[in-house]
Amino acid sequence: MRRRFKRASALFGQTPARNDYLALIGGTIYVSPTEEPIRNGVVLINSGKIAAVGTRGQVQVPQNAQLVDCSGRTITAGFWNSHVHFMERKWADVASIPASELNQQLQDMFTRYGFTAAFDLSSPWENTRRLRDRIESGEVVGPRIYSTGLGLLPANPGLPPDAVINLMGWMKAPAPEVADAAQAAAAARRLLDAGVDGIKLFVAAPSKASLSQSTIEAAVHEAHRLGKPVFVHPNTGADVLTAVRGGVDVIAHTTPQSGPWDETLLATMKEHRVALIPTLWIWKWYARHDRRSAQDKIVNTEVGQLRAWAANGGTVLFGTDLGAVDPDPAEEYSLMGQAGMTFRQILASLTTSPAERFGESKQRGRVAEGFQADLVVLNDDPSKNIRALIAVQYTLRAGKIIYRTGE
Ligand SMILES: [Zn+2]
Repeated sequence: MRRRFKRASALFGQTPARNDYLALIGGTIYVSPTEEPIRNGVVLINSGKIAAVGTRGQVQVPQNAQLVDCSGRTITAGFWNSHVHFMERKWADVASIPASELNQQLQDMFTRYGFTAAFDLSSPWENTRRLRDRIESGEVVGPRIYSTGLGLLPANPGLPPDAVINLMGWMKAPAPEVADAAQAAAAARRLLDAGVDGIKLFVAAPSKASLSQSTIEAAVHEAHRLGKPVFVHPNTGADVLTAVRGGVDVIAHTTPQSGPWDETLLATMKEHRVALIPTLWIWKWYARHDRRSAQDKIVNTEVGQLRAWAANGGTVLFGTDLGAVDPDPAEEYSLMGQAGMTFRQILASLTTSPAERFGESKQRGRVAEGFQADLVVLNDDPSKNIRALIAVQYTLRAGKIIYRTGE
């Protein structure tokens, strides 16, 4: 190719004009987790979408296209983090935060690690909606945000005192408490009427109060009427079983505190086709003050739970509980690898599996013609070392470079 590559830094943050083409040239492209990668490939982008994907010989790059050299790099679809929270104080009163500061905060947590979509599983909905609006208007650069609004709690949950909430760094935002099925249905309906993308249930609370199966069913019924998913935070395997029987769609954590998951639980999860967000790193992090043997027990149990589920063909969605844990996802990738998940399985948890679960599989999750140009360009090959998933060179959303490492 004789034309000179334009420095990607010159393209940073630009919204390409309507007829402009952007071409990522020369990388190894994982078009999906199940297909063979295209080596020395080209991704041609136009109007925010993928116009063509193939080898250099197959894709005609228009003369006026801007070119980005991706040789030696790996290209995948943009990543999803399916368990985050916009609950930290840094997001409070989001309408008043200057765009430059928001950009930095969103980069620190999302775009620098390749996340182009995030599902928030409990935060004050009006605030999170304003954040999303500022991103979608183009004023602020960030991922596509989905949110459940504040999660539903059992009555008398015994939440920590304000001093502890302060120490955790969270906003004070009282979540709705529901005592029975009628209250759960009403609370879910209020959130859905306000426009949330799903419902989150805390099946058990610190006080040991819990939601009954019929209470869970009532909330699920309201969400499913609108085709929206229900997520559950469980503390034990028994909580998972109740929630699955109640019809929830996504289990938002493993439960290492309650010991290994038995065959009945795993079979019931499979039968109900739920998805699991493992959040392995946060349990390891929370155990860091405990004795080494106790830490090892937590890690072995959670890794065992994920291994049993993934080996059984269960759907896994990548998620870290971001907002409650350090943003760097490298440790989560490593722990998923310890549970026997291959690079391709982990890639599915970041791309195709969330896109399918959340009804976006016709436009997101794969590097394919006609799909949204939400892409990650990595400097290393994650099929050789899973930690290479954090070596992000560029993150693109709708064809726009929204993050690049200094070059
Ligand atoms: Zn969470």
